[in-house]
Amino acid sequence: MAQHFDLIAIGGGSGGMAVARRAAKYGMKCVVIESSRLGGTCVNVGCVPKKVMWYAAQLNHALHDAPEYGFDATLTTVDWPQLKSGRDAYVKRLNNIYARNLANSEVTMIAGHAVFASHSSVMVNGETYHADHIVVACGGRPAVPDIPGAEHGITSDGFFELASLPRRVAIVGSGYIAVELAGVLNALGSEVSLMLRRQHLLARFDVMLREELMEQMQDDGIRITTGVSFSSVERADDQTITLRTDDGVMDGYDTLIWAIGRESKVNGLNLDVAGLSINDAGFIPVDEFQNSAVKGIYAIGDVTGQAALTPVAIAAGRKLADRLFGGKPDARLDESNIPSVVFSHPPIGTVGMTEDDAREQFGDDVKVYQSRFVPMYYAMTARKPRSAMKLVTIGATEKIVGCHIIGDGADEMLQGFAVAIKMGATKADFDNTIAIHPTSAEELVTMR
Ligand code: FAD
Ligand code: NDP
Repeated sequence: MAQHFDLIAIGGGSGGMAVARRAAKYGMKCVVIESSRLGGTCVNVGCVPKKVMWYAAQLNHALHDAPEYGFDATLTTVDWPQLKSGRDAYVKRLNNIYARNLANSEVTMIAGHAVFASHSSVMVNGETYHADHIVVACGGRPAVPDIPGAEHGITSDGFFELASLPRRVAIVGSGYIAVELAGVLNALGSEVSLMLRRQHLLARFDVMLREELMEQMQDDGIRITTGVSFSSVERADDQTITLRTDDGVMDGYDTLIWAIGRESKVNGLNLDVAGLSINDAGFIPVDEFQNSAVKGIYAIGDVTGQAALTPVAIAAGRKLADRLFGGKPDARLDESNIPSVVFSHPPIGTVGMTEDDAREQFGDDVKVYQSRFVPMYYAMTARKPRSAMKLVTIGATEKIVGCHIIGDGADEMLQGFAVAIKMGATKADFDNTIAIHPTSAEELVTMR
């Protein structure tokens, strides 16, 4: 007889793990079905290995600066195989910790690819499992353009498999992944060309962040070409890659990385058997409570098209379990003021409205405070990367609706400011907070 569960999570990534473990905490019988490695994108080919590479890149910057602080530092090239094997070993440890966490939470784990067998059951490895509640948390995958020769390029998944530091890299794209990988590879010694189809990086970010990052990446030696789109890709016998546009070629690369966005991983799930369909963008549409169009089936995380961030998938999963089993009928993901960091060089931290969005919505009620400076660390160095900060306020009370930071420390700085902004802080609240000196963060409470 088919086994019955209270909740089935399809996908053992950030969202699936979170919903199942929280539901199990309420005494529910839960199963997570995972076709690949536990932890999903974030742990295996996302946030975690990316942050290790970002730390390596930061170290390289520090090594460059060290002689100017009086250290006898000899700079050699990075031992990529050592870096990769240390990183892979860390990810493996995390896979095991995730498996242990599931076991400790008394959540069943099934390894295999799940497909819907009906609106209330799924099939995996030839077995059928029924549940009152099925949560689709199957995440996404990198998009690749539909042009001849696209297969000569890799994606962020392939980046984490590279066995050596690429010499000459072309990165196509303008979002989070494009700027993060470009910064890492450039800092570690690759010659990096970043190719944008439009004029700007990070389309949805505040204009100050976009312009400042573009300038600083170029100052760091990254070649940025704007307004290019490619019609085909070729790989020669000597393995060099050529990208063709309608009126020219860009050639001589040993590695090509597509970083043009991600698509949901719903194909092969038999959504139609469950009565589900996807929207035009390829995501499973959900309401504010993560309900799909079919009663008893929910979707969370990257598969929904909501902000594709790990903490968002986790929060959606936990709130859903709280609502279904925890006696909190109104629990739901709050999508307002989601803070986000881009691990670029220098990093970006952003929360709330951009200046342009605020002006469009609130017109002359918007007042903006801005600061641009070279952090004190660089007083000792020839390298002078800038920091820039912006507060977007509205109304007579100057309620802060947007906070945008680029510069060293922005990644760690933002979380606390995000709390204040979520609580409705005004510019006067910031002004009334004693500064911490000497830091970069103090600029945010001393802006005039
Ligand atoms: P996933 O984590 O992708 O999990 C889905 C799981 O479902 C996968 O393990 C998959 O194998 C499994 N699966 C799919 N179909 C099936 C099936 N039919 N049966 C069984 N299992 C199935 N976010 C941040 O917040 N900070 C960052 O710094 C950050 N960096 C990133 C860097 C990169 C390079 C990438 C690609 C992403 C990054 N993200 C980051 C985004 C973050 O990784 C995702 O938002 C998050 O992992 C989404 O979680 P999820 O549970 O929706 O999906
Ligand atoms: P993004 O959505 O960030 O950016 C992709 C960009 O590529 C688009 O905005 C578009 O910009 C451009 N693009 C789209 N199609 C093409 C094309 N055919 N040719 C050239 N350029 C194209 O996607 P990513 O893949 O970088 O990242 C996916 C998501 O993962 C992010 O949105 C983020 O939510 C998450 N992530 C989070 C990270 C973090 O928190 N630090 C790090 C990495 C990923 P335009 O329209 O301007 O051309």
